[in-house]
Amino acid sequence: MSTLAYTSIEEIPKIHATARAAFQSGRTKSIEFRKAQIAQVGYLIKDNEQRFKEALRSDLGRPDQETELLDFGPTYAEVKDAYSNVAKWAKPQGIPFSINWFAMNPRVVAEPKGVALIISPFNFPIFLLLTPLISAIAAGSAAVLKPSEQTPAFSTLIAELVPKYLDPELYHVINGGVPETTKILELQWDHILYTGNGRVGRIIALAAAKHLTPVTLELGGKNPVVIDPRVDVKLAARRLLWGRFSNAGQICLSPEYVLVPEHFQDTLVEALKEAYASFYPEGPEKSDSLSRIVSSAHAARIKKLIDETKGTIVVGGQADVEKRYIAPTVVRDVKEGDSLLGDEIFGPVLALVPVKDVDEAIKFIQAREYPLAVYVFTHDKQFEKKVFSNTKSGAAVTNETVITAGVPGLPVGGIGPSGYGYYTGKHAFEQFSHYRVSLKNPAWVDKVAFFFRYPPYKPENRKYVKATSSSLPPRPGKGVVSRATKRWAFWLLFVLVGVSSAALTRSRRPQLKA
Ligand code: NAD
Repeated sequence: MSTLAYTSIEEIPKIHATARAAFQSGRTKSIEFRKAQIAQVGYLIKDNEQRFKEALRSDLGRPDQETELLDFGPTYAEVKDAYSNVAKWAKPQGIPFSINWFAMNPRVVAEPKGVALIISPFNFPIFLLLTPLISAIAAGSAAVLKPSEQTPAFSTLIAELVPKYLDPELYHVINGGVPETTKILELQWDHILYTGNGRVGRIIALAAAKHLTPVTLELGGKNPVVIDPRVDVKLAARRLLWGRFSNAGQICLSPEYVLVPEHFQDTLVEALKEAYASFYPEGPEKSDSLSRIVSSAHAARIKKLIDETKGTIVVGGQADVEKRYIAPTVVRDVKEGDSLLGDEIFGPVLALVPVKDVDEAIKFIQAREYPLAVYVFTHDKQFEKKVFSNTKSGAAVTNETVITAGVPGLPVGGIGPSGYGYYTGKHAFEQFSHYRVSLKNPAWVDKVAFFFRYPPYKPENRKYVKATSSSLPPRPGKGVVSRATKRWAFWLLFVLVGVSSAALTRSRRPQLKA
């Protein structure tokens, strides 16, 4: 494992001050500048793909295909989306026409918040660090990046590349552990985006509150799967295991447990075993298609959860903590209170929890914290609707797992304990932007209107006050036809009468003979 050089604590306030001064220079206001920097983020990866793959092989024992599919792919998609749309996103927006206000040219202008802090975890170091950076750049903010100290090879590489590819005064990398991050959090930022576990998420939110800094929290949780026994079980098994075992289960959107009807568990287990055998024909330990756990401490934590389960291990169960290896594992008959149903496992272990029916599955989910995703495997729209309309989560996904994070246009975000705020696209751009209101009132407005607002107030001016006030919607439950509907009905009638009388006149006109 490589060692990571930490940024010195004294250096941290200086980096913060440099980023702020560079932001205040105003150069991020130019959309062309932002586009060039966004493109550079893409080339930072493209030119160094091999080095990134090597770094992630070292940090996570990661097969190159997973790095290409799950780190490079979605980050390139974000570069393309932000590059193509930043001008549109940043364009001042008018408001719908209003006779009261149009003369004052009311506008909403997206302005950069300032200097952003982006703290990211180890599991998808490229995507989780650089995607928020792209959003910050698109919004015109400066940014300081704090990658995870648990991925030393990646964090060393990114610290080398960021100043080479991007404006070195606006965009910075600080490396370190808890003392360095604590120092960073003492400083005043204009936005903080943190991705990681909820325990640290609370530390971040408290530190931000001291400065009233807005925060985005991208946290974790336990994502449930509800499976319909009428589903194509073989396909479901392959998709479930792919989502659970990719990156050795260290994916925030990975399915953690399956709520399976009791009578269907044996069928599902058979299909999972078949999929498992096809994924790892020579066994998972020899396979070059399986990542390792980020640290031996995390491997030991996951091993303990497996050792303590009261469920029955169907496949896997082996561990070599020193080698950071946890065999992909499926455990059946997992019951309430089991070690696998406590904290997020964040490892390659899938728990099968038998339930009577879909109603019991829904109650099980409702009794727990809102997850990042609820997954349903079914071909029945009613089944799908029942689960989704009775649960809450960041994402509601049918017959698939994990991949929503890679679909451009779909934001990634949680709700409640799984976080708040969004990754990717316009939603993320908005987080690093402040919507500043603009209005310019010309002098003539006071002559033709709005003169009535000035004291001394006169009773005859009250009619103008009334005219500017909006009408309320119809009172609920009274079956009242709204004024707008009446107005539309009037015009419709007017047009119909006009058209039919014109037609009548024409039909009565004497026809000229040829
Ligand atoms: P981690 O250990 O790499 O920590 C994340 C970051 O927090 C690091 O940069 C680390 O330096 C910093 N940190 C750690 N302790 C700190 C402290 N005391 N004070 C300040 N900063 C501190 O990663 P992790 O937290 O184990 O990440 C895994 C978690 O992240 C899982 O729960 C996963 O579900 C979640 N996650 C969520 C998303 C999402 O999009 N919602 C994405 C990926 C991961």
